[in-house]
Amino acid sequence: MLIQVLGCYGGESPQCRPVSLLINGTVLLDAGAITSALPLKDQAKLNAILISHTHLDHIQDIGFLADNIFGKRDQPVRIYGTRTSLRYLKDHVLNNHIWPDFTAIPNARSPVLAYQEIQPGKEFKVEDLTVKAVKVDHIVPTVGYLVSDASSSLVYSADTGPTKNLWKEAGKLKNLKAVFVEASFPNELRRLAQMTGHLTPELLVKEIHKIGKNNFATYALHMKPAFLEVLAQECKSQGEKIHVLKQGERIRL
Ligand SMILES: [Zn+2]
Ligand SMILES: [Zn+2]
Repeated sequence: MLIQVLGCYGGESPQCRPVSLLINGTVLLDAGAITSALPLKDQAKLNAILISHTHLDHIQDIGFLADNIFGKRDQPVRIYGTRTSLRYLKDHVLNNHIWPDFTAIPNARSPVLAYQEIQPGKEFKVEDLTVKAVKVDHIVPTVGYLVSDASSSLVYSADTGPTKNLWKEAGKLKNLKAVFVEASFPNELRRLAQMTGHLTPELLVKEIHKIGKNNFATYALHMKPAFLEVLAQECKSQGEKIHVLKQGERIRL
């Protein structure tokens, strides 16, 4: 599995793009940074976007992507999400007020985008990947993802405070190679993190210990741009090997 980090932050600045992890050039985990990161020809190669939740930093590039790939593909780009997330997208974003409904453009039979509802806890296939969504604990309905191919697996926490089921499922993966887990706020803002359904580096370490093994790489992501330096320092000083993800990185599992 090849993972390209198109964006990995919990907000945006000239140096920081929001979260989008591209798998094998065709499948995306979240849509915070597509059109701002990928050349046009590569945007047209995307087949699937797995949405964790509908906060803006995870969906903001879907609309511009639809515009850019119009007329360039035979098949729609499939947007995978829970029933609630897809409803929010439909009602509040691609609703012909904020942005056109690209699931009906140029017509409903061969649209630019298509919604694909998923059930948390139930495995499904995307290309040659096996995927499972697991509910996590954020302030809006959110799922993390477990993604596997024949030889390796990754876990993506999405936005979450302390949670349980995702780590339980992660512990069952045979070839777990990488865990991408959020670290939004510095340790001293723990209360804010807890109020808003996020983690600090200290809380992150407690979370990965719940997996019950340690033979995988840990990547911190979703750092808020305003706290980048202190977050990098705090991740380093946790006494665990935490790799602070950088946009533009390529990781082969
Ligand atoms: Zn976020
Ligand atoms: Zn969020």
